[in-house]
Amino acid sequence: MTIKITGEKVKNREERKPPESILFRYIPGKSSTSSMQNFMSWRMEKLGTGKIENKMPSDEREVKTFHDKELNLYIEMAAIDDIIMHCSLMAEKGLEALGFLVGNLYRWKKKGYEVVHETVTGELESTAVSVKFRRDAFENLFDKLDEIEYDYVLIGWYHSHPGYTSFMSSIDMETQRRMFNREFHVSIVVDPINLELKTFRVSNEKCIEIPYAVFGEK
Ligand SMILES: [Zn+2]
Repeated sequence: MTIKITGEKVKNREERKPPESILFRYIPGKSSTSSMQNFMSWRMEKLGTGKIENKMPSDEREVKTFHDKELNLYIEMAAIDDIIMHCSLMAEKGLEALGFLVGNLYRWKKKGYEVVHETVTGELESTAVSVKFRRDAFENLFDKLDEIEYDYVLIGWYHSHPGYTSFMSSIDMETQRRMFNREFHVSIVVDPINLELKTFRVSNEKCIEIPYAVFGEK
């Protein structure tokens, strides 16, 4: 099944100043893992998701990953909360989570950047080590996308690695290449057990971990 992800309208980026109310920033190779874990546990406490003990083994192995230090991905707090909530609830059941990132492309002083405003997800066929949308989930998923009132762009996707840390595996790379192959597309990988949330792009067949900033109201 081919899914038209980006639409024809990737398009002129709107000129707009990047969000300023930054609540958390993570720069791979620079920020500490504990800062990310503190951020995750702060949100999980707020959301009332308990500590999850349910660690699952996985065959997924990390591909060679490079780091980028330039920040051009901003994620709204409400979207981060939805992602963490979804990944936590599924992890409690011993399952992986998956969804799409909805947002827009902007530009400021000749530099492009992406903002994730919200997420959508659908009925999943999930196990502890794999996840995909159920065949009948797509209609529902596209209905949800239809309800979004602004001119959105699918920025990418998120999924969880419950208990086996945040990285891109070769299967994840394949998914990204197949479904999200534009240069602005991102992948968020969340481990709600080890409290990790990392963001990646695929560029020239290379996996690149990129910085992200979370913004919005506390
Ligand atoms: Zn994965």
